[in-house]
Amino acid sequence: MHTPVLIDSRLPEVGTTIFTVMSRLAQACGAINLSQGFPDFSPDPALAAAVAGAIEAGFNQYPPMAGLPALRTAIATKLQTAYGAAYDPETEITVTAGATQAIFTAIAALVRPGDEVVVFEPAYDAYGPAVRLQGASLRPLALLAPHWRPDWAALEAAIGPRTRLVILNTPHNPTGSAWPREDIERLARMLEGTQVCVLADEVYEHMVFDGARHESVARHPALAARAIGVSSFGKTYHVTGWKVGYVFAPEALMAEFRKVHQFNVFTVNSPAQAAFAGFAARPETWRDLAGFYQAKRDRLRAGLAASRFRLLPCTATYFQLLDYRAISDMPDVAFAEWLTREAGVAAIPVSVFSHDRRDEGLVRLCFAKQDATLDAAIERLCAL
Ligand code: PMP
Ligand code: GLN
Repeated sequence: MHTPVLIDSRLPEVGTTIFTVMSRLAQACGAINLSQGFPDFSPDPALAAAVAGAIEAGFNQYPPMAGLPALRTAIATKLQTAYGAAYDPETEITVTAGATQAIFTAIAALVRPGDEVVVFEPAYDAYGPAVRLQGASLRPLALLAPHWRPDWAALEAAIGPRTRLVILNTPHNPTGSAWPREDIERLARMLEGTQVCVLADEVYEHMVFDGARHESVARHPALAARAIGVSSFGKTYHVTGWKVGYVFAPEALMAEFRKVHQFNVFTVNSPAQAAFAGFAARPETWRDLAGFYQAKRDRLRAGLAASRFRLLPCTATYFQLLDYRAISDMPDVAFAEWLTREAGVAAIPVSVFSHDRRDEGLVRLCFAKQDATLDAAIERLCAL
């Protein structure tokens, strides 16, 4: 349909997110979809039954704005059990429509026009547009391959009077790395005495491998005091389509978050909240997740050892980066498309996660897949 309105876009450089683009292409080509990050297996039947039971039991109208009290209490217990952190479920925890809404709402609540927001690149693609829509600007800082550690001198130089927020994502998408304790502590020291807030995107909190631990901001009081932490039940419970997550923050920060949240979504679907209330506090529902995904990582890496891809280290998340330069000198976006069409395996090109489209010849594979799916993809990738 024609519109007479002149479109002066608020996000002129933004197209359709790479996850949609690649999943659509995978489907069109009948390729094995290792691009967009989501499991191809089912959640715990008890969780699905709990949602059905909640509908039967009448959890069908608006829950409280901040989330069902039973779920917020369960989340507080989980934060205490997992990280030794005390958050008040009344005032310091809010249930969100996935991490995406949490991130957008936190940025809208904290960031003013003219502010600067530090992001580490490659950066998950939801951060930049949310920052720009507030009339603020990004200060992108490159993480350094292959371990993706921050450049501390560049960070120190980037933080100034206009810096409002640092967005921290550990475990990190798309690199499959996680910040070690010393880096978290160094960031905390660097922010001491500043007015800078931290948005800690920790959606892969339970997928840290080889016995390492997740360094949640909740473990580090100096950072927790200035941080809004974000997690997603979608990742932890294999239900990315349910879109339920949560945020935790000191009361004054959470009060600002809720001012926006109440007019953004107001609240989040009640049957899923009621179901998660029975799961979120129980360590057995997340403790084995790292082992589960570590086995899949090992299967994928062992299978691809015979390929011409070079595998970058993968210490966390459900993503594995591959360097394809021995196979092709195509730009990564073209290579990901070629791989989908010609090899029948869809992947995500990494350059889309940097403001300058920095292309290091890397693609990302998601290994949250059944072993048979991984094996089929390995066979195709080893043939290249
Ligand atoms: N942050 C990161 C780093 C992610 O990878 C994702 C992916 N799904 C999200 C946030 C969004 O999570 P949700 O699906 O709960 O909105
Ligand atoms: N977080 C998922 C990924 O990185 C995708 C989320 C989405 O499609 N928006 O693949």
